[in-house]
Amino acid sequence: MLKVSNISKSYGEFLALDNLSFTVKPGEIFGLLGVNGAGKTTAFRIIMGLLDADQGEVTLNGKKIDYSVTDRIGFLTEERSLLTKLTVKEQCLFYGTLKGMSKEKIISRMDELLERFQVPEYRERKIKELSKGNQQKIQFITAILNEPELLILDEPFAGLDPINVELFRKEIIKMAENGSMIIFSTHRMEHVELFCKKIVVLLRGESVLEGYLSDIKEKYRKKNIFVKGDINTEKIKKIDGVLGVIEKSDEFEIKINDSEVVTKVFAEIKKSKDIAKFIVEEPSLNEIFVSKVGETYDE
Ligand code: ATP
Repeated sequence: MLKVSNISKSYGEFLALDNLSFTVKPGEIFGLLGVNGAGKTTAFRIIMGLLDADQGEVTLNGKKIDYSVTDRIGFLTEERSLLTKLTVKEQCLFYGTLKGMSKEKIISRMDELLERFQVPEYRERKIKELSKGNQQKIQFITAILNEPELLILDEPFAGLDPINVELFRKEIIKMAENGSMIIFSTHRMEHVELFCKKIVVLLRGESVLEGYLSDIKEKYRKKNIFVKGDINTEKIKKIDGVLGVIEKSDEFEIKINDSEVVTKVFAEIKKSKDIAKFIVEEPSLNEIFVSKVGETYDE
């Protein structure tokens, strides 16, 4: 288990990280969220042992992270750190050797991953000749070459198209199923909702929302109802517990303050003819964030 306990870090007078704690168990995918400058990279550097915290502690399976465990860690840095003059194969051999892998193991794992990421033809190509998205694939492949027990991904989806986000997602889920602990940072909430079970949201270095996504959504009892059809919005607005009715292009979104209000809304809507849709949805993580800290998260 990765245990981050009460870490804080200041750069001079500026407090970049304030008493951050969380745990990640084998098989868990953990999302570290925050807008630019929230403190994500600082947290990662401390976890990796590249930066000392002013206070607090980070342990992996009960031991402090140092050179003895780095072979079991994979890291995709935010500053993409490829050796662009090397070929893909040379780059993999370089990093794989640093992680203590044999040449045979590196080559077989590299070929398997190039195939899965649909870029086997780039094996002998120089990295600088690849597109940005494909360079990102190669960097990701390098980070997971050694099947790390702990995988840290700083903004892994930045600049990827949806098809490639899906390729990365599949691989990350597969690694979690095989028991890896995975942490990734992002400033896009929808990426987290795609596959994270547990999150922490940082705002100016401080955790403002944390825990299992399902618990967070459960505790936040507000829900949204989407309705298509000819409904009496004035009557619905008057129902106790209805926070508002928003008219969208071809449907209505009804915001309610508690799931128990659904039946009352449904009873009113039943009176209308031609109802083509009635769906009750959990609020998005972004909506929860906005209501919690009173400012918008997505940029
Ligand atoms: P981004 O999404 O933009 O990468 P981040 O959440 O990763 O942001 P950090 O890079 O951890 O944020 O930075 C947190 C804060 O600390 C920022 O305000 C940044 O300006 C500041 N900071 C980071 N590194 C240093 C440093 N070496 N010296 C001084 N201030 C720093």
